[in-house]
Amino acid sequence: MKAARITLCPVANGEIRGFAMPSMTAMQLDRPGTPLRPVERDMPHPGKGEVLIAVAACGICRTDLHVVDGDIHGSLPIVPGHEIVGRIVEQGKGAGRFATGTRVGVPWLGHTCGHCAWCRDHAENLCDEPQFTGFTRDGGFATHVVADERFCFAIPDRFGDVEATPLLCAGLIGYRALRMAGKAQRIGFYGFGAAAHILAQIATWQRREVFAFTSPGDTAAQDFARMLGCAWAGGSDKPSPAPLDAAIIFAPVGALVPAALRAVRKGGTVICAGIHMSDISAFPYRDLWEERSIRSVANLTRADGDEFFALIADIPVRTSTTPYPLVKANEALDDLRNGRLNGAAVLVP
Ligand SMILES: [Zn+2]
Ligand SMILES: [Zn+2]
Repeated sequence: MKAARITLCPVANGEIRGFAMPSMTAMQLDRPGTPLRPVERDMPHPGKGEVLIAVAACGICRTDLHVVDGDIHGSLPIVPGHEIVGRIVEQGKGAGRFATGTRVGVPWLGHTCGHCAWCRDHAENLCDEPQFTGFTRDGGFATHVVADERFCFAIPDRFGDVEATPLLCAGLIGYRALRMAGKAQRIGFYGFGAAAHILAQIATWQRREVFAFTSPGDTAAQDFARMLGCAWAGGSDKPSPAPLDAAIIFAPVGALVPAALRAVRKGGTVICAGIHMSDISAFPYRDLWEERSIRSVANLTRADGDEFFALIADIPVRTSTTPYPLVKANEALDDLRNGRLNGAAVLVP
């Protein structure tokens, strides 16, 4: 844990009289389309059922980029970041699911109402009154974060702090998308970034055949995909070399939907895994004909997380990460925006 910065209380007139207020540092978004700004805040205290976590590392997800760029709109000002790994340093009233000092992960789904029709029907990912980490409640681009303990996950020991972060969203929501592909044997991944590089390892371990469609000409991503066991890798402007049973679109590019529909066989499914996508251009009905389907994946449930972390206990998944200091959050976001990364960018306070 990083030691809390000690700020002298103004009334102490600069003299140390045992009156010190601990504070935290965060990278805050004031307005979409502007850079994140480093801010010092008083250390928050966890409320009922909440825990205060000292952030060890926080991954950057494409959704953070959508928040910062204003493609989607949550609360403002906000501290982004929902792939958080850290250690519990304070327990709120009634909390105690994890001992103080335990390493936990905080995902995108930060809180649900527990009583709406969706919550009651095991579909809390669609809750009517949800809170999302780094979107409607402050996230992990910070030294500290407060989380509802019921939505935290224990992290398998074999992952280091930095390498565990992409599991919390790229891995977890990617896994929900993979599950929607059902028994599909040959799967196409459109966009080969943080999510696809984890899912490729899981899908190949499940003895599925993965075809990786990258940005045209991105031979580095194609080599990376092959290295991770993909049966084929090429540009998304190329037709699939064989019919796919299902396709998962990770890239926020609407034009990939008709392309993926043309690549799937009769009865095949195209799954859109992102929270935001550019408009989908018109396409002929014959591309959807023969019971092909298109669906989206929204958020996650705690059950998804439990299933995902149990599964990867058995699979030798490795994550590829590029660490940046917390204060370089804007540079890291820019590298993601411009496709200058293989794997995932991670902020380390
Ligand atoms: Zn609900
Ligand atoms: Zn995410």
